[in-house]
Amino acid sequence: MKHQIVIIGSGLGGLLTAVLLAKEGYDVAIIEQNKQIGGCLQTFSFDKKIFDSAVHYLGSLGEGEVLNQIFSYAGIQKDLQLKRLDQDCFDAVLFGSDPQQYKLAQGLDNFADSLWQQFPEEKEAINAYTRLLQDTCDRFPLYNLRNGDAAEKEEVLHLKLAQELQKITTNQTLQKVLSGNAILYAGMAQKTAFSTHALVSKSYIDSSWRCVGGSSQIAKLLWRKLQEYGGVIYRHEKIKRLVVNNGIIEKAVAASGNEFLGTHFIANIHPQQTIALLSDQSILKSVFKNRILEATPTVGCIMVNIVLKPRTVSYKNYNINWNLKDGLEVIDALSEFFPVNYSIYYTEDSHNHGFAESVSILSYINTSDFAVWKNSFNSTMAAQEREPAYTDFKEEKAVLLINKVAERFPELKEQMQSYKIATPLTYRDYQGSVTGDMYGIQKDVNQLNHTRFTTKTRIPNLHLTGQNINLHGVLGVSMTAISSAADFLGLDYLLQKINEA
Ligand SMILES: Cc1cc2nc3c(=O)[nH]c(=O)nc-3n(C[C@H](O)[C@H](O)[C@H](O)COP(=O)(O)OP(=O)(O)OC[C@H]3O[C@@H](n4cnc5c(N)ncnc54)[C@H](O)[C@@H]3O)c2cc1C
Repeated sequence: MKHQIVIIGSGLGGLLTAVLLAKEGYDVAIIEQNKQIGGCLQTFSFDKKIFDSAVHYLGSLGEGEVLNQIFSYAGIQKDLQLKRLDQDCFDAVLFGSDPQQYKLAQGLDNFADSLWQQFPEEKEAINAYTRLLQDTCDRFPLYNLRNGDAAEKEEVLHLKLAQELQKITTNQTLQKVLSGNAILYAGMAQKTAFSTHALVSKSYIDSSWRCVGGSSQIAKLLWRKLQEYGGVIYRHEKIKRLVVNNGIIEKAVAASGNEFLGTHFIANIHPQQTIALLSDQSILKSVFKNRILEATPTVGCIMVNIVLKPRTVSYKNYNINWNLKDGLEVIDALSEFFPVNYSIYYTEDSHNHGFAESVSILSYINTSDFAVWKNSFNSTMAAQEREPAYTDFKEEKAVLLINKVAERFPELKEQMQSYKIATPLTYRDYQGSVTGDMYGIQKDVNQLNHTRFTTKTRIPNLHLTGQNINLHGVLGVSMTAISSAADFLGLDYLLQKINEA
């Protein structure tokens, strides 16, 4: 098989980059190891209900907002089945045993108004926070779909989230509330940049949406568009080798023995995996190679997907985020406690409006807890039972998590019909991540240049895309897809087209 552009991995990054390029006439092929495309956008069914494997809500899909513009240009926005979360509370945040439930509202003004009501003494601090949030986001050109100078963001890149929140207010509860949904970016007091928090949080404050019927619709719609533009996806083809010849990649070789020749290659996988695939690694500078090999992964997670007895639990059109303490400190607390946090995502019963048919409960867990079973592998493509000790361990953790959730939401345990657990090994095996970590490389404000990459590499025909390059999440990955496609099309040209769409 020979194509102009060969993309390894059909995650959102690979799919969107492919559509942007195919739309301009490039002959694009995506090679995906799984049967189901989409990586983290995959859904699965269990006890006759559909569950999202990872993506439970999206930001900035409102009219004129950034993800809406990108998806409109890609041709999929109009066909997405979306439900907007409650405008006055898209995320509720809770801490420890504090009975108070704090609300995060949509729309920056509404968000501030709502916080003023909850913290009447903190009006100035809340204003300072929203100003910094807006100012920070304004400095990231791609977030605003414009071309710009890297220097624009220089002043804010080194700001640390925890420190900025402390500068803004001495009210520790408000500090905690502002980063109460830090699970969205695996926030850590010592490592997280204010800008990471700002770009992610602001997109959900702008507007927050669930995909009705599952997030896999994004992948399916992009696939349909790709086909319309003449692109193809080869599924069930795991790339085992990128053959380097005369300083460039000549072909990608799959485990099946099939060879995919290309003029250009784009890796939508972890850069560590990309390096490992190269037949000749000496082509890369050792500084670059070491930077990638030394990158630490984000924390892992466990997800308990619960099918509820019909018509027993009210549907909540918002998410719950509980943290044992400050959400920026709970990853470090994992060595001592479990669970240290949870997020609950409700799915409405389409036949019984107002009731939830299922919930997914997400919580951090150390990937190292699963190291003893790291040599086992289980996915739909290679189904294999893991040993009973693994099953017992994940069951034990799931029960601890369900019991913690039941302290505040007893109905979720009482009305449980069945449940299915996903662990870091599930994520590793189904989504192809290196360790089963949540968001790929852990970004570190103290080592900015070590944890961010450009889409171009020293190998002239090898490009990168996906969550590990810059920012994770549906919006972050979509922005990077624009950069990857712009390597071929030119950024000014592509942005003009997106803005005119
Ligand atoms: C539990 C969890 C919850 C999340 N929740 C949200 C959320 O609510 N909202 C949000 O915006 N984001 C969320 N995210 C983050 C978001 O899902 C990801 O950042 C994003 O989808 C990653 O896209 P990607 O293109 O980088 O790659 P991935 O989705 O990781 O896809 C990579 C693809 O490459 C394939 N692949 C790997 N190796 C090979 C190979 N050798 N050959 C061929 N194919 C290969 C994989 O099978 C996979 O399909 C969540 C992530 C997780 C894990």
